[in-house]
Amino acid sequence: MILDAIRDDLLPLTEKMVARGNHVFGGLVLDKKSLRVITAGSNDRVENPIYHGEIDTIRRFFAEANHPAPSECIFVASHDPCPMCISAISWAGFREIWVLFGYKEVKDKYDMPVDLTMYKEVFRAPGATDENLFYRKYYLKEEAEKQEDARELLKEIEELEALYDALPVQPFSYPGM
Ligand SMILES: [Zn+2]
Repeated sequence: MILDAIRDDLLPLTEKMVARGNHVFGGLVLDKKSLRVITAGSNDRVENPIYHGEIDTIRRFFAEANHPAPSECIFVASHDPCPMCISAISWAGFREIWVLFGYKEVKDKYDMPVDLTMYKEVFRAPGATDENLFYRKYYLKEEAEKQEDARELLKEIEELEALYDALPVQPFSYPGM
């Protein structure tokens, strides 16, 4: 269900945003019980360098009238959140986070070492923890491997990765790099 939501509700928005010069990172908020998609958001760095995919998602979520409580929802991040975004997700009150691409993939595949550099330089930390007082973070691939239909799920994930790989990312000047 989360994979369907990424493909059908997030990627079409990301395609549009990427065409305007933004990055491919995006987020979704789903109702925890029904897995209904409540909000999708995508990186909007052209407008403002701090409008990462997760920040855009949180902005849109709270702008929705009658949105459920964040604790009743799950937050999906296409890519492991940066220090700003993981803090914003915590501040917003989301307690369950699902991630498609982990930090290592963001660094290597997307040539985006800034997140990890910022964790290291600013916080002297290797990254964010997966479980703490604020949230529990799950990795879609790891959880898929534990399921009975793991092969099918991992194939779906591979297809999603190919769609992400095909998105053309414009060069951008990152701070500190
Ligand atoms: Zn971020």
